[in-house]
Amino acid sequence: MSNTTAPVPTSAPAATGGKRNSEPFKSPILHEVGLPMDPDNLYLQTVDVMLTAAEMIGVPHNIQLILAQPKNEIMVHFPVRMDDGSFQLFKGYRVQHNNAMGPYKGGIRYHPHVHLDDVKSLALLMTMKTALTRLPFGGGKGGVKCDPRRLSRGELERVTRRFCAAISHAIGPDYDIPAPDVGTNAQVMAWFADTYESLTDSNRSSWDAMRVVTGKPVEIGGSLGREKATGQGVVDVLVEMLPELGIKVDGMKFSLIGYGNVGSWTGRILAKLGAKMVAVMDHTGAIRNDGGIDTEALAAHVAQTGGVAGFDKNAPATGTGNGKAAGATAISTEEFYKTPVDVLIPAALEQMIKAQEASWIAAKVVAEGANAPSTPAGDRILSERGIEIIPAILANAGGVTVSYFEWVQNKACTSWSEEQVDRELNRIMVAAAHRTNKARREFKCDMRTAAYIAALQQITKVYEVRGIFP
Ligand code: GLU
Repeated sequence: MSNTTAPVPTSAPAATGGKRNSEPFKSPILHEVGLPMDPDNLYLQTVDVMLTAAEMIGVPHNIQLILAQPKNEIMVHFPVRMDDGSFQLFKGYRVQHNNAMGPYKGGIRYHPHVHLDDVKSLALLMTMKTALTRLPFGGGKGGVKCDPRRLSRGELERVTRRFCAAISHAIGPDYDIPAPDVGTNAQVMAWFADTYESLTDSNRSSWDAMRVVTGKPVEIGGSLGREKATGQGVVDVLVEMLPELGIKVDGMKFSLIGYGNVGSWTGRILAKLGAKMVAVMDHTGAIRNDGGIDTEALAAHVAQTGGVAGFDKNAPATGTGNGKAAGATAISTEEFYKTPVDVLIPAALEQMIKAQEASWIAAKVVAEGANAPSTPAGDRILSERGIEIIPAILANAGGVTVSYFEWVQNKACTSWSEEQVDRELNRIMVAAAHRTNKARREFKCDMRTAAYIAALQQITKVYEVRGIFP
């Protein structure tokens, strides 16, 4: 099948229901909880989408109020001895948004621009993700304001251990379970778990304390398939949803923003299914090759150099792993967005697709591998242009899903094969995609609103049966 390269309206109507795009920030709840009305604020934007969906399905006022603010916002400052003997003070956050459905769950990011409102927003997204996928977890998120690329391995370890110590009283294996996110990885989780375990009082339950984080190395209880899980989940959702949107995965063209954990796994798994990666952009630059970029060779290049820049010069003369054309040409940001593709997958940071970028995009579908990659203005333009958006709470829920499998395996003192992990992940991602499609048909809304509706239906039921104390 031909994969046309110009954006065309897809079979399903985009963004017809909901007042999100036409009348933003109108919910009285926003005023009731006293949120500052800064339209660029990510938290305000995230709550607004959630409340719009809540209003459409008549979520009771008291539940909307509860969900409009996190339960707990923890902010800590802690000193760390640097390699040169000096001390630096770091700022860390853990936001616990909701635990009505189970323990708080969500990653910890290390990034120089981490701040409270972003972490709050990401924590809310976690609640929506776990509700949409029906995992027995709530939502949380954490972060440390630091640049992990500028820290030595020893400094990274000490930052992690001090951060864990600073929030250890507020987390726990059945209470709040962190995981990797932007700038953190399995090694960071190992230091975190080791520190938490060392600080727990009961010697008898000390190994069980390692359940306090997921995304651990396999040697200490991590799950097979966890590292690739978010990328695998993106692909599972695409395979399920693209045919309905008139796109066949085998032979389609895609581009990626970000070639870290999520981006590189998504790219490599899609390439194995016959899709062609034609452009990639990250913090170091952008590259393009309409004949297809070798996803494995690019992953090796990024691991070695820290980014995609330079791949145009260093790429092998002939394709290796994927049988695709080799090499690539360095391009500008604008050229990257204008590269014609079937699917563009943002898999880096939040709020990258603003109005300008959205007007450049030449894709039929944007699949959000990253959390909240587009601004409301970007979202609106994509919708107006008939470009489908597969929202993050669906597309990138694979990570937390396999985190749940890790937690279950740890609780049961067992380990699953990678095949079992992949099979169960696929089952959960497909079910979440079906829930989203069902809500979309029923409420005649865009896919983002539909995913929130499907999540909120679950949360509302949980509150109805649990009631609100006292
Ligand atoms: N950081 C990932 C996310 O944003 C994974 C969270 C987890 O595994 O708890 O979904």
